[in-house]
Amino acid sequence: MIFPKMNLHIHTQYSDGLNTIREIVKYAIRLRLRYIAITDHFSNSWKSDLIPTLDDINKIDIYLDEIKRFQDYLRIESEELILLKGIEVDAFSTSKFITRLIDPSKFDLILFEYIENNIILNKIQDILVRWRLSSPRTIIGLAHFNPKNFKNDDLEDLINFLINNDIYFEFNSQYPQYYLENGKFFRKLKNHNIAVAIGCDSHNLVNLSSYKGPLEMIKYYNLEENFKKFIRILENQ
Ligand SMILES: [Zn+2]
Repeated sequence: MIFPKMNLHIHTQYSDGLNTIREIVKYAIRLRLRYIAITDHFSNSWKSDLIPTLDDINKIDIYLDEIKRFQDYLRIESEELILLKGIEVDAFSTSKFITRLIDPSKFDLILFEYIENNIILNKIQDILVRWRLSSPRTIIGLAHFNPKNFKNDDLEDLINFLINNDIYFEFNSQYPQYYLENGKFFRKLKNHNIAVAIGCDSHNLVNLSSYKGPLEMIKYYNLEENFKKFIRILENQ
């Protein structure tokens, strides 16, 4: 099977990316990508002191409106490219801040970064229980997640978290070291048919099309069915 070219992790000038949404969309069309997601940063932790983030409701609405305009443009022009409205939520943000500002029904895709231990996992789990009731169709994934942080019992908790909340695992082209020598974790993904997808953590145009490394990892760990599962979810959105 030939898999669609995908990059579901892209930053723009709405946070710490160099390019505008327009520049990303135009270049993605030239590269003949099939699926992209704009996923700018959301945070009120230490991160928000270092980079611009989507930290108020007006900013988020303007951001979503702009993505929507390009979604309409792609549809009208019958382009192959499908653009998703995403956001990358820093899991160190306070729960109150996340639940007050993010309405999951407004997004096609939500990534969480920095789920590094069980305490953070449980915090996010509480948010997801509410979100899943209101917005069952929003796709939720783990950004550049390092499975090596979870061992033994914690690994079981992690796998249950992914299954129970319907969360996908992102193979990120910028973090290949996370995927080496970790057969146990990837066998569990395979056995439980947990969806996997591809993101390139793009902050400029240079690596917009770096999906090949992640695709190699998907094949290496025999996760093609998991990737197909994700593609079916996208097709039914
Ligand atoms: Zn990112």
